[in-house]
Amino acid sequence: MSNYIVLVKQVPDVTQITDNAFDPKTGTLIRSRLVSVINELDSQALAFANQMRQDSGDKDGKIIGLTMGPPMAEEVLRYSLSRCADMAVLLTDEALGGADTVATANPLSFAIRKIVREVLSEDSDYYVVCGMQSVDGDTAQVPPQIAEELHLPCISYVTKSEYKNNRFEFTRIISGGSQVVAAKKLPAVITVAKYEYPLFATFGATRRASRMEIIRWGSDDVKATHTGVSGSKTLVIRVFPPGKSTRKCEQVGDAKSLAKLLVSSFKSGSGKAGKDNNAQMSHYVLPGRRVDKFDRGFEGTRKENEDFKILADTLKKLGISESSQIDEYIKGKILTEAGKHFHKRALEDMLKGLQLTEPSYHGEVWVVAEHNNNVIHPATFELIGKARELADSLETKVGVCVAGYEVEPVAKELIAAGADNIYIIENKLLSEFDPTAHRKVVADAISTYSPQITLFAATAQGRMLAPMVSYRVGCGLTADCTSLNIKDSSRKGQIGILMQTRPALGGNVMATICTKNSRSQMATARPGVMKRLPTRDQRTGKVIKHKVHLSKNDISLEIIKTELGTGDVNFNVEVIVSGGKGMQSRDNYERLVGSLCAGLSKKLSTQVERGASRAAVEQGFVERIHQVGQTGTAVTPKLYIALGISGAVQHMIGVANTQTIIAINSDPNALIFKQCDYYIVGNVEETVLQLVEALEEV
Ligand SMILES: Cc1cc2nc3c(=O)[nH]c(=O)nc-3n(C[C@H](O)[C@H](O)[C@H](O)COP(=O)(O)OP(=O)(O)OC[C@H]3O[C@@H](n4cnc5c(N)ncnc54)[C@H](O)[C@@H]3O)c2cc1C
Repeated sequence: MSNYIVLVKQVPDVTQITDNAFDPKTGTLIRSRLVSVINELDSQALAFANQMRQDSGDKDGKIIGLTMGPPMAEEVLRYSLSRCADMAVLLTDEALGGADTVATANPLSFAIRKIVREVLSEDSDYYVVCGMQSVDGDTAQVPPQIAEELHLPCISYVTKSEYKNNRFEFTRIISGGSQVVAAKKLPAVITVAKYEYPLFATFGATRRASRMEIIRWGSDDVKATHTGVSGSKTLVIRVFPPGKSTRKCEQVGDAKSLAKLLVSSFKSGSGKAGKDNNAQMSHYVLPGRRVDKFDRGFEGTRKENEDFKILADTLKKLGISESSQIDEYIKGKILTEAGKHFHKRALEDMLKGLQLTEPSYHGEVWVVAEHNNNVIHPATFELIGKARELADSLETKVGVCVAGYEVEPVAKELIAAGADNIYIIENKLLSEFDPTAHRKVVADAISTYSPQITLFAATAQGRMLAPMVSYRVGCGLTADCTSLNIKDSSRKGQIGILMQTRPALGGNVMATICTKNSRSQMATARPGVMKRLPTRDQRTGKVIKHKVHLSKNDISLEIIKTELGTGDVNFNVEVIVSGGKGMQSRDNYERLVGSLCAGLSKKLSTQVERGASRAAVEQGFVERIHQVGQTGTAVTPKLYIALGISGAVQHMIGVANTQTIIAINSDPNALIFKQCDYYIVGNVEETVLQLVEALEEV
C-alpha cells in the first residue's frame, strides 16, 4: 500500500500583479498587496496523487499534505484537506524564513523523515509528490534537492501515471520527446508538470477540513541542518523590474494589414535576433590589472555604488593612490570629507574591499555537457561561448564535463567550440541519462577538480541534474539565468564573483543572485540566450579521463520506453508557421497551417516549414519532430507565425532569436502578445483564411 506525501506551497497570485504591487523606490514586490493562493502545479500534484491512490486500488493509502511557510500557509493545507488529503503538516518557524532552495529542501526533507517515522511507521512504500515548480521561485530545484537529501530516485516533469504489474509507470517530458519510466525502488520523488483534472471541494468537505487538526512543527522539531538565511547558499543582491520587451507587441486590426506587415518584415529582414546576446558581453578585468587601483565593478544597490564612488573621489582628492597609505589619520580625513554620506562602519567595509585584488574563487569555468547518443545539445555550445568569456575575464580555463558511454569523440567539437579541457567520464551504465547515476559522477568530478563556476543548460535534463549535483557538493544554485556576468560583489570586497541574473515571479521581476557558503558557483542558463562562438577546428585542448566507480545500484530508474521525434523536418528556413493547441484538431492543423505555409511560400518565394507547440504534438495534431521550444527545437527564422499558441516560457525559449514573431490568438490576454512583434486577437479559423486571401492581394 503506497502513501503519498504531497508538497503544497502558498504563493502570491502572480496573474494579479499590478504596477502598484511594486515599491517604486526599490522595484521590489510588496507581497502584502497580492492575494495568496495555492501554487497551481501543487494543486495538480494533489489531484495526481489522488488519482494514483485510486488507480492502485489501495483506498487505505494516506495522502499527507506538507507545507513550509508562515502560519497563514495553513490555508493551503485546509485546501488539501478539503480535496483529498487525510492529514496535514505545517512546518512553520521564524527561523525558517528567508530560505533559498537549499534551506527549503533541507527542512522539508527532515519533516518528511519525521512523517515517515511518526505517521507511516517507517513504511518505505511512499511517494513524495510535488508540483514541478512554484510560480514565485520558478526554479524547479526543491524536489530534486529533496530527493538528494533523502537519497531517493527523482522522476521529474511527469504528465501521466499508469498502474501496471503492481507498480506505477510514469510518462515524463524529456528533451526531444517523452519517456516512460518506473522507480527501481520506493520511496521516490515525482514532480508533476501537468495534470488537467482538478479536484473540487464540496461544501461538506470544506466544512470538515476547516475543523480538522493540522500538525504544527517548528524548526527544533525537525532539526534540519540548513535553515533560513544562514543556511542558504545563495544571496539575492538586487531585484529590479524587467526591461521592456524588445519586441514591438503591436496589435493589428485586420488580416490585410497583417499581410502587409508580414511581407515588409520579411523583406526588410530587420528584427530582434542577436541583440540580446550582445548585451550579455561583460568586460570584466581583474583588479590587479586595472589602471585605477580603486576602480571596482560593484553589483549592489544604487546607494552602495554611490557611496563607493564618493569614496573613490575623496581618495583622489586626498592624493591617495594605494591602500597601504590609508591609516587611522586618513580614515578620519575621509570621514570629515564624506561622513555625511556614509558612517565609519560602511567606510571600513569599503576599505576592506579596496585592499583585495585577488579573485575570491579559483579554478576553471566548467560546463556540464548535455548530449544524446553523442549529439551535443545546442545549449551546451552556447554555454561554452559564455564560459569562454567568463574564463577569459578571470584568466582561467574552460572545462567541459561529459558523462556517458563512448563519448570521447565529442571532445574535438567541444574544443573547437571554445573549451580547453574536456573531462570525460565513461561507463556503460551512463549510456542513458539516469539522474542518480549522472549526478554521482558529475559531482565526483566537481569535487575532484574544483571548478570555480559550473554551468548547466536549463533544459529539462539540466534543471534536474544541476539541483542534485549542487546539493550533493554543498553549493548554491541559481536557476534559469538569462545573464551571467563577473563583478566585484560587495563593499567587503568579494572579487570576481559570478552575478547570476534571472527572471522570477513569472517574469514580473528580475533578480541578481550570487553564491555564498559554497566552494563553487553554480547556475543553469536558459537555452537560446547565450551565444555560441564560431567553430575553430584548429583550436587545441586536453582530454582528461576521470574514473568513477558505478554499480547497478546507482541506477534509480527503469526506462521502459523512450519516444523521440522521428522523420524529416528542415527548420533551417526563413519562415516557420506553428500551430498550437488552439488549432483544436489534426484536420484544422493540416488545413490552416498547410494553407498559410503554401500562401507564404508563394508570396515570399521561400521555403516555409511547419512547427508546433508541445501541446499540439501531445494532442496528436502533428508529429513530434515539428515541436519548437525548450524540449523541441530552438529555431531562428526571419518570420515565426504562432497560431493558437499561448506563449508558455518553454515554447518561447525556442523562438527567442527569431527576427519577427507574429501571433494569432483568440484570447486578448494571451501571454504571447507580450512577447511578439505583431498580433491579431481572433479565431485562427477565420483569421488564417483571411490572411491567406490577403496575401494574394498585397
Ligand atoms: C519541462 C517542460 C518542457 C516543455 N517543453 C516545451 C517545448 O519544447 N515546446 C512547447 O511548445 N511547450 C513545451 N512545454 C509545454 C508548455 O509549458 C506549454 O504547456 C505549451 O507550450 C502550451 O502549448 P499551447 O500554447 O499550444 O497550448 P495552450 O497553452 O493550451 O494554449 C492554447 C492557446 O490557443 C488559444 N486558442 C484556443 N482556441 C483558439 C482559436 N480557436 N483561435 C485562436 N486561438 C485559440 C488559447 O487562447 C490559448 O492561448 C514544456 C513543459 C515542460 C514542463
